[in-house]
Amino acid sequence: MSIRRASLAIAASAIMLSSTAFAQMPQQQPDSKAFKFGSFDLVALHDAQFVLPNDGKVFGVGHSPEETAKVLKDAGAPTDSVTLSVDALLIKMPEHLVLIDTGTGGALQQSLSQAGYKAEDVTDVLITHSHPDHVGGLVSNGKLAFPNATIRMSSAEWEFAKKNDKLADLVKTIGSHVKTFEPGAEVVPGITSADLPGHTPGHVGYQIVSGNEKMIDIGDTAHSSIVSLAKPEWPIGFDNDAATGETNRMGTLKKLAQSQELIFAPHFPFPGVGHIQSDGDHFKWDATLAASK
Ligand SMILES: [Zn+2]
Repeated sequence: MSIRRASLAIAASAIMLSSTAFAQMPQQQPDSKAFKFGSFDLVALHDAQFVLPNDGKVFGVGHSPEETAKVLKDAGAPTDSVTLSVDALLIKMPEHLVLIDTGTGGALQQSLSQAGYKAEDVTDVLITHSHPDHVGGLVSNGKLAFPNATIRMSSAEWEFAKKNDKLADLVKTIGSHVKTFEPGAEVVPGITSADLPGHTPGHVGYQIVSGNEKMIDIGDTAHSSIVSLAKPEWPIGFDNDAATGETNRMGTLKKLAQSQELIFAPHFPFPGVGHIQSDGDHFKWDATLAASK
């Protein structure tokens, strides 16, 4: 490992809440993928990529790496690691420019300008939860990265963030711009928060409605498009409350497979837009939007 790679890996692990070995791929290329949803213009924005060793610490907790390797092999993926994309979702509405999550502070700003938008024009940043790969991009060089935006998160999540020593600087910088809500509340006209418990104390998803169409950003309800869907009952090392996380994952995936609602999953392969399909007693990912390259 070169010094540069090593320092990036250290920086990546330093921002993670868990002590799990977690390597961030160096310098991700910016990427953006625009699509229409009802009358809104949406853009999936790429921020970073994480590669986790298949060591049973995050995926397949309580199961052997061999069991996880089999799941990965059956999906045609490398068996020694699990790769997660880190992405955010931009929604252009008539009166609002909304960003759901902000990545690690990686390539997101470049992806945003590649898509033709300015950080100053974002009116609302909706946070699914306060892990560094979702709030890391709120602050850049000690300043608000989206200076004119109201930052919205659930009241339980804001309390959780304020108790996290590692987020002390960030909490101080964003504090006066934060507005909290109770899960289930409409946070922006046309976008309603959804209680998706387990991953963190105040973790929520966001449902976007345009006319008769609905789509939902599921946050970290499921992390890997392969392992989390093939083995939704396996505990995830990232979940604060693994049992509640599992119940939420099973219930939410079942509901989404039935409703065939469009979903955005911030850690599925970029651009992370598609449907959940039932596959026997588990699920599989149906990406409906191809990557741009
Ligand atoms: Zn995450």
